[in-house]
Amino acid sequence: MSNKEIFQIPPSFAAQAGVDGAHLRQMTADAARDPERFWLDQAGRLDWTRRPTLASGSSFADDVSIRWFADGRLNASVNCLDRHLAERGEQIALIWQGQEASQVERLTYRALHERVCRMANVLRGLGVERGDRVAIHLPMVIEGVVAMLACARIGALHVVLFGGFSAEGLADRLNDSGAVAIITADEARRGPKRIALKTVMDEALARGVPGVRHMLVLSVTGIDLPMQEGRDLALAPLLAQASSDCPPADMEAEDPLFLLYTSGSTGKPKGMVHSTGGYMVWASFTHEMVFDHREGDVFWCTADISWITGHTYVVYGPLANGGTILLFEGLPSYPAPGRWWEVIDTHKVTTFYTAPTAIRSLMRDDDAVVKGYALDSLRLLGSVGEPISPDAWIWFHEAVGRGRCPVVDTWWQTETGGILIAPIPGAVPQKPGSATLPLPGVDAVLLTDKGEVIDGEGEGCLCIARSWPGQARTIWGGHERFRQTYFSFSPGYYFSGDGARRDADGYYWITGRIDDVINVSGHRIGTAEVEDVVATDHRFVECAAVGVPHDIKGQGLVVFVVARDASVPDLADAASLAVTKGIGRYAVPERVYLVPDLPKTRSGKIVRRLLRKIACHELDGLGDLSTLADATIVDRLIAVVGPAK
Ligand code: ATP
Ligand code: MG
Repeated sequence: MSNKEIFQIPPSFAAQAGVDGAHLRQMTADAARDPERFWLDQAGRLDWTRRPTLASGSSFADDVSIRWFADGRLNASVNCLDRHLAERGEQIALIWQGQEASQVERLTYRALHERVCRMANVLRGLGVERGDRVAIHLPMVIEGVVAMLACARIGALHVVLFGGFSAEGLADRLNDSGAVAIITADEARRGPKRIALKTVMDEALARGVPGVRHMLVLSVTGIDLPMQEGRDLALAPLLAQASSDCPPADMEAEDPLFLLYTSGSTGKPKGMVHSTGGYMVWASFTHEMVFDHREGDVFWCTADISWITGHTYVVYGPLANGGTILLFEGLPSYPAPGRWWEVIDTHKVTTFYTAPTAIRSLMRDDDAVVKGYALDSLRLLGSVGEPISPDAWIWFHEAVGRGRCPVVDTWWQTETGGILIAPIPGAVPQKPGSATLPLPGVDAVLLTDKGEVIDGEGEGCLCIARSWPGQARTIWGGHERFRQTYFSFSPGYYFSGDGARRDADGYYWITGRIDDVINVSGHRIGTAEVEDVVATDHRFVECAAVGVPHDIKGQGLVVFVVARDASVPDLADAASLAVTKGIGRYAVPERVYLVPDLPKTRSGKIVRRLLRKIACHELDGLGDLSTLADATIVDRLIAVVGPAK
């Protein structure tokens, strides 16, 4: 990872950016000097029914209590909809692009408001009350966004569940959250395939989910399905009958807005609880700052709404800021490679936010594909979810952004509610592979294993020394687990679980998860370091590094690589050489496996804990596999590595 390569802000971008270097320095200084004042000012970006007079009342000590704007009252759906009606009622709030090119729907703020009110009345009509949990299990259709905002309107907590979860994964999360109602669909379209949603939900409920009273079923593909009397209801007729007038619930700032499960890359997913006031301030603040939001933007975040990225940057951030969002139902390469680029050109997308896993898979296509599109509406690109290798960053910047669009690599977590570390694009020059600098008011620190603060350049565990408004308040039903997981590593600090390096310019480079750090003969190696050097060789599509016990070295390095063309000779040697050249002789891998694919979560993150077990031939207790995108990968990996020992 080089520190040398710096991408300055293109003058054309800087000339129009909302926040320049001087402005950012001022904000950072203000937030540090008088955080109370700074955040109360930021709270002014929302409409409150009672304006808060207090900012933070948080403490990371003892029992851990996180509170922001505690005497304020507001409603999140009002902030995303009603307050825009006077000025931008006829502006497009949401462009929905279905899987087929001809399926396009555009909703104005007024139309979206009306649909949300109807849905909210349907829920109220079924007896859903403030504080109840409602599970949303839908494909990328307009009703997904509508259902989230409808819950917010009546003060119910939404729990959005990914459409690809198994019955077991669904049942676990439904029971953990205590959902009383479910909004699902008949089927989802996924390329040429149809994914059963209601049928899987039926199976989930058959496993015993006593809290669920109602299941509302949206018709997407229109197939006939058995409906259980007294429990299941077709959604369309209820929406048609419902009133479009729905007074919003007046919520306390600290009332929870939603609960959402983490991706489960490291183990059992955690149900994070987010508040109404602090979360909404954070969503609006970070969306405006990091994406340089301005009038006329068309904002496309490709995340599924069932991930935190979908919550904060498909729905709440851009709508709170009166933006136009694009929601795309389809896949990047269906019916043909280049589909995403076509969507960008068709809808004149200005801001495109996606994940390294998607970028890597698009890099696999011939460059002629992306070159075939104009992409001239784009002005800013973003990445989230995993460390992005400098190699993928540069491809994104050159091939997609045509060298004209800054790339914001954004570091954050389900727990953080929104972005914490990222370049403000008009103010901070970028280095490929670095998430750059913390946002104003984000007190990032690096700690040693023993909890000592590292000053200046160095590498350690990424922690945050002070609460920020978007921080999760607790784990649903598990405050002690919350305290233990995030606040026991070093008292007074929020522990992210990620490792990072800080360079001489103060830029942060995420090195991977602390649990995945590999220690070879006393040398600590972050997974991202190894994976970056292998990724530079374009014969490899992807790579994952893990540490396994080694008698002499403590740990040895094992590397899994996915080749572009597995029939090319000597690929394992090439990967090994890339590591020793890029990192050092000591890092020579014990083994390199050429594998057909890597195990990933449904949000596209590599699940290294599983690779470690397989590399060690420990096949008992592979742990929770419900978060895997494709569970068949386990057997395919074992076929390469060999059976249990
Ligand atoms: P679980 O906590 O259940 O194991 P998860 O951590 O994958 O799952 P998320 O909250 O979806 O669940 O992901 C957050 C994590 O993703 C971060 O802790 C970090 O490891 C990784 N991540 C996100 N953005 C970036 C980024 N820009 N650079 C590097 N890593 C990132
Ligand atoms: Mg995590």
